[in-house]
Amino acid sequence: MMARALSAGPPTLDRVSSPAYARSVPPRARRAAARGGSPFDPQETPLARTRRARRMARELALIHPDAHCELDFTNAFELLVATVLSAQTTDKTVNRVTPTLFAKYPDARALAGADRAELEEILKPTGFFRAKANSVLGLAQALLERFDGEVPGRMADLVTLPGVGRKTANVVLGNAFDVPGLTVDTHFGRLVRRFGWTAEEDPVKVESAVAELLPKREWTMFSHRVIFHGRRVCHAKKAACGACGLARWCPSYGIGPTDPEVATKLVKTPAASDTE
Ligand code: SF4
Repeated sequence: MMARALSAGPPTLDRVSSPAYARSVPPRARRAAARGGSPFDPQETPLARTRRARRMARELALIHPDAHCELDFTNAFELLVATVLSAQTTDKTVNRVTPTLFAKYPDARALAGADRAELEEILKPTGFFRAKANSVLGLAQALLERFDGEVPGRMADLVTLPGVGRKTANVVLGNAFDVPGLTVDTHFGRLVRRFGWTAEEDPVKVESAVAELLPKREWTMFSHRVIFHGRRVCHAKKAACGACGLARWCPSYGIGPTDPEVATKLVKTPAASDTE
């Protein structure tokens, strides 16, 4: 059980040397603070890092037993289009427009022949609607021309589609084809760096670093859980460290408020969490 901790704010060397800090902060976070705040510990052996990562992944499964893909879809085509539309907006907003979109354009053939003005009108609430109309029209045309209107179930094919990178491809593979994939979005990258699992910034390098730490069969669910944690607890601006079940293993503990009462107020409910 985490002791009641210090007030909010990142660890500093002054705080690290104070007796109160030493009593209240887990040793891993203390060592990170002594390194100047860098969560990645180059001295941690690959075996130790793998064990810690697996322990944290198990804990995340307990913290977020309800983690799932927050985009609504009934098939691979719908998921692919919804994922492309989710750029720069919330899943909730995408879920508001996709019922109308897929009622009118249920497959790649129908979407490829869509009237641009009507399509833009439907996509308006998602923002950047002209660019998004272009993206999904191009995507539908490519599916029709090169894949007979079907969404391919291989990474190598998916990334040849316009507007589809590894992140989108992994969402589709993991959730529509049951092919394990790590979805490195903004939450995922931020959290695994805070966990000290990698120091990489490039999403492809982050993906390979995490792939080495966790068994392949867990990749898709781990991605959902870490994204849930990023949306609800480990926020970009104010991480709710004092209310976080990963604190014991996390070298970044202390970058957000550690007082449990203050931190608990920062935890977002599922209904309020879909803001990024
Ligand atoms: S909320 Fe704090 S303790 Fe929890 S994972 Fe984020 S940085 Fe680590």
